[in-house]
Amino acid sequence: MTPVEALERVLHCLDRAHTGGFKTKAFARALDVVRAMPEAELVERAENGSLTRVDGIGDATAAIVTDALRGEMPPYLEKLERTTQITLSPEAAPYRAALRGDVHLHSTWSDGGASTRRMAETARALGHEYIVLTDHSARLTIAHGLDRGRLLAQLDELAGLNRELSPFRVLTGMEVDILEDGSLDLDDDLLAALDFVVASVHSKLRMEAKAMTRRMVAAASSPHVDALGHCTGRLIGKRPQSSFDADAVFAACAANCTAVEINSRPERLDPPRELLDLALTHDCYLTIASDAHATGQLEWQPHGCERAVERGVPIEAIVNTWSAEALLDWAGS
Ligand SMILES: [Zn+2]
Ligand SMILES: [Zn+2]
Repeated sequence: MTPVEALERVLHCLDRAHTGGFKTKAFARALDVVRAMPEAELVERAENGSLTRVDGIGDATAAIVTDALRGEMPPYLEKLERTTQITLSPEAAPYRAALRGDVHLHSTWSDGGASTRRMAETARALGHEYIVLTDHSARLTIAHGLDRGRLLAQLDELAGLNRELSPFRVLTGMEVDILEDGSLDLDDDLLAALDFVVASVHSKLRMEAKAMTRRMVAAASSPHVDALGHCTGRLIGKRPQSSFDADAVFAACAANCTAVEINSRPERLDPPRELLDLALTHDCYLTIASDAHATGQLEWQPHGCERAVERGVPIEAIVNTWSAEALLDWAGS
């Protein structure tokens, strides 16, 4: 394990534990510094104990780098590996085992913390056969959303990545903003070209229920949309659910083969229980998606699996338990 790999793994563990805050930021900064440092200087500084004199490298990072260079497992990382494991109940295990891909995740192209390659390689190591890369659309400027030109550039990158990682597949997609009138924040030709499109509300979350219902029904009814992302927009303890007629929205999802996403982020767990129950009464298709913004967060699908088993979601209705081929067939029809 190289020093960079060791620090990447530290960040992975901190991210899956949803640690956030100062510690994660400090290690992310340290990783940038170590990545940029010539190997010879890194080795020399580790040997003469001068790593901590470099801006951005503290005692913890210095110890990890030194251990990694010696070919030893850093004790700090070894402890993190043990203490940040995501638990999975025996009841939810069949759901997690059935998942063959992840269909909502972000990279450094928008507001994610890892490259498309690292997200793909991590997902593969978790046992997946495919991912759908769903970076944000242009309207979400705060998340560095992709406009037409940048999306086309990303599609080029993914073509190369697919040639390298095959048979693992990186499917093309986007988390497209649902604009206030229910239209989508991407041109139709690109929406049609993408393999899998998640549509989400990220603005005007408090709009009046009738207008919000019209907005969401319009998006769910689009032939280009394959999944409705984090439908209520809630952030547990921070932001309440949006108000809308969930019966009408889920009916539109069912009628148009738009899956309802079970968002696995701990602060979202969206839809809430009562709405997931309602989606089931409409026989909606579902996804269990991580909405990962970092490699460690790709390990969050078990949270969605726990919710799915608790509410009795039929496994076969979860579209990312299907093969990539079956998913593409379904999304294209
Ligand atoms: Zn979102
Ligand atoms: Zn997202």
